Amino acid sequence: MRLFLLLAALVGASQGLQTFAGDQVLRLEPSDDEQVHLLKQLEALEPLQLDFWRFPSYPGRPADVQVPFACLQDVKAFLESHQIKYSVLIQDVQDIVDEEAREMNLNERKERGSDSFNYAAYHPLESIYSAMDDIVAEYPQLVSKHQIGESYEKRPLFVLKFSTGGRSHPAIWIDAGIHAREWVTQATALWTAKKIASDYGNDPSVTSLLNTMDVFLMPVANPDGYVFSQTKNRMWRKTRSKIPGSLCFGADPNRNWDAGFGGPGASNNPCSDSYHGSSANSEVEVRSVVDFVRSHGNLKAFISIHSYSQLLMFPYGYNCTAAIKDYEELDALGKQAADALASLYGTVYKVGPICNIIYQASGGSIDWTYDQGIKYSFGLELRDTGRYGFLLPASQIIPTAQETWLALKTIMEHVRDHPY
Ligand SMILES: [Zn+2]
Repeated sequence: MRLFLLLAALVGASQGLQTFAGDQVLRLEPSDDEQVHLLKQLEALEPLQLDFWRFPSYPGRPADVQVPFACLQDVKAFLESHQIKYSVLIQDVQDIVDEEAREMNLNERKERGSDSFNYAAYHPLESIYSAMDDIVAEYPQLVSKHQIGESYEKRPLFVLKFSTGGRSHPAIWIDAGIHAREWVTQATALWTAKKIASDYGNDPSVTSLLNTMDVFLMPVANPDGYVFSQTKNRMWRKTRSKIPGSLCFGADPNRNWDAGFGGPGASNNPCSDSYHGSSANSEVEVRSVVDFVRSHGNLKAFISIHSYSQLLMFPYGYNCTAAIKDYEELDALGKQAADALASLYGTVYKVGPICNIIYQASGGSIDWTYDQGIKYSFGLELRDTGRYGFLLPASQIIPTAQETWLALKTIMEHVRDHPY
């Protein structure tokens, strides 16, 4: 097919900052199994350099894909020839990337020389790390910073601990940014850190929670990827590990956990965005959290924050046939949390098992933690539903964080009140 031959030329990616001029994000709406199958075939065709923002899954469920300008016409012709319904979500990806970079630079300039941190802006890693230090400095009785490991490129992996001192407190874990390009998640986590710290002693719910439990919060679970997404390729998702025998870098750190590892919904192709890695826990960013979870030994909840799609999910992702034994409780709690979230700005979330509401995915973090006995294992996909996708404007950071907080708080209160 002409489409596939033509595009081999595109493989040589530029060495500098990748640009996306004229690239579009298309929403694809397969209506039957055959169309889903065709989209999965399209996804596997490397020379096309298609970047699936949301992977194809089931008939009637949309898939979103960023298509390079050079193959736009051919991809559209392919879709039309197979009568696959599509619409344009983003007309020109670069326009939005440029605007985001402009705003970010402007904010960096403003923040330099002042000691205030703007929670309504996206930040470089160093700014996030120094803001974490500032929170620790402001609330030293409550908050401390812990290094749980080092990334592949030797960046520290930091976790904030919120604790009133009890050494044997059970704990709640929250992480964000395991997928690099999901920038609203790192920003939301940082806002959440400040929120927890400043609410203690003021908000009865947070106060009573922290009187009996600790909270661990990891705002940037994949720092190498995050830096790469800001300096080389805004759309970077994976880690940055070198893969022996491949020209491609990185594994999908949310396909790398020892839960159905290597099963459906993960790729064994190192160049794929959902590459599972050479073995379970091969990525040091994953291994570090695994070691932490094991050595802590008393986590009662594990919440992993992603974007986008507005979903609140629980296990399983790797097993689509059997419902988990805590289905009723997690489903009810998830719905209660989603209702709380919606009460602020009307943002609607779907709730359910990963497999049912997004797609089958193996090697995911919350499946592993659930199998370790951490009952309250949840994954969130924050705003939006595709208008901007990963390029959510910074003006939406605070509203997103505020509403997400209501869901997190609902889950945390339930965990506090249901010891197990
Ligand atoms: Zn993600």
